[in-house]
Amino acid sequence: MSSLVELVASTNQDAAGARTVAIIGGGATGALLARALILRTDREVVLISPEASPGRGVAYGAAQPWHVLNARAGSMSICPDDPMHLVRWARAHGHAIEGTDFLPRALYGEYLADQFATILATSGGRLRHHVATATALHQDHDGYAVLTDNGPVRAGQVILAVGNPQQQRLPGISDAAYAGPHLVTDPWSAYPQPDADEPVLLLGTGLTAVDVALTLTEAGHRGPIEALSRRGLLPLAHPELPPSSAHPDLILDGGLSLRELLRRVRLSIVAGADWVAVIDTLRHQADRLWDDFDDGNRQRFLRHVVRFWDVHRHRMAPPIAARIAELRDRGTLRFAAGRLRSIEPDPRGGLVVTVEGQEPRRFGAVISCTGPGALPGSANPFLASLFRDGVVRPGPYGLGVDTDRDGRIQDGLWLAGPLRRGHSWETTAVPEIRAQVDRLVSALNRQTVPR
Ligand SMILES: Cc1cc2nc3c(=O)[nH]c(=O)nc-3n(C[C@H](O)[C@H](O)[C@H](O)COP(=O)(O)OP(=O)(O)OC[C@H]3O[C@@H](n4cnc5c(N)ncnc54)[C@H](O)[C@@H]3O)c2cc1C
Repeated sequence: MSSLVELVASTNQDAAGARTVAIIGGGATGALLARALILRTDREVVLISPEASPGRGVAYGAAQPWHVLNARAGSMSICPDDPMHLVRWARAHGHAIEGTDFLPRALYGEYLADQFATILATSGGRLRHHVATATALHQDHDGYAVLTDNGPVRAGQVILAVGNPQQQRLPGISDAAYAGPHLVTDPWSAYPQPDADEPVLLLGTGLTAVDVALTLTEAGHRGPIEALSRRGLLPLAHPELPPSSAHPDLILDGGLSLRELLRRVRLSIVAGADWVAVIDTLRHQADRLWDDFDDGNRQRFLRHVVRFWDVHRHRMAPPIAARIAELRDRGTLRFAAGRLRSIEPDPRGGLVVTVEGQEPRRFGAVISCTGPGALPGSANPFLASLFRDGVVRPGPYGLGVDTDRDGRIQDGLWLAGPLRRGHSWETTAVPEIRAQVDRLVSALNRQTVPR
């Protein structure tokens, strides 16, 4: 009933709504979109997000001082044609940095929030921040009504920038374990620290597990920490200096099968190529390679190659890699391969974990670092409502949401950010999101709107 009242109220709003673009989400993607829309269009823009100061999002908002970017400052500028923008901003704010440095993530969050605040203040009222959580979306002949917990917003165009899906519920973990205090399902939340001498299990061995291991040890955890995944692969480290150039043999101009691509990679490595240059060369072509793969090649990539790709592509900054090596040498941190069979509460406190082929073991806490789950199962409540109403569909292979190449879901409804992954393989990091935003705003600009 209340949403019906809101909907009626929203249709009485100014018809200028047709020229308004509503962005739902105030993380890095939402902030980049707001900036590009103000600078490159003449639209009114409303950014809807619950945070008082948009820009940081999950990645840069929950970061502790020991969490650093996994990319060099020179590649993290928000301006596509000004790679040193971040470096100059940091220097102007008293940080003596170089483009090859890995900055603290919290500092990068400050940069994003500052850039959003600047564009908000200088937009002449064209940009507005509506502090709210979107709860539903309705389409009518004039465009869209975004219902929120702080009143409706009318817009001709709506862009979803709501970040990653939630983590997936894992088979084998009992309801009682999920309901108890010892299983942490959101590693970015403020969870209670486990007792300092208790053993802790991290589910997952990627960059999130690395972050959590650092957080535990920085907080004084002394007990053993084990990170578990099917293959037990941990991310590789960035070299101290970036590779000098792209790898020429892997600048590919036609569609290749996965097998042929892997053969070429092997040949390059055997011939002495720097693996970092190989991966970086492929990364910049990843969307096209993914696009060119047929269904069989994509399935094979997801089944057999993706974990290896991830550990080479998403690398630890050198100081983080050094700290992780130290914790492993000391025996505090262990990376293990295994298949989780079950997790149950232990009547004495903590959790009993069984890994296939091993005796059950007790851990004081288990922290899930498995990353975003598949859709629609792992959608947040707002996105789940869009799935239920048939407004959005899962993207290929349950990866994100289905869109066209520019990010259009349907007439007037767009998507940007990590949920584009089914169509754009490399869609997580800032350089790719920046390019995505650029293309989306160009496509939106090509649409005619009533004045
Ligand atoms: C821990 C971590 C570290 C990373 N490090 C790097 C790095 O070093 N370099 C790099 O290039 N990339 C990195 N990335 C990747 C990348 O920068 C992020 O994925 C990117 O910031 C995604 O931003 P986003 O705005 O799409 O999503 P998020 O940051 O998740 O933001 C989503 C926003 O949507 C809002 N929202 C959600 N639902 C609603 C709703 N119903 N109504 C209103 N608002 C809603 C949220 O409140 C939030 O503001 C990292 C990612 C993570 C998770």
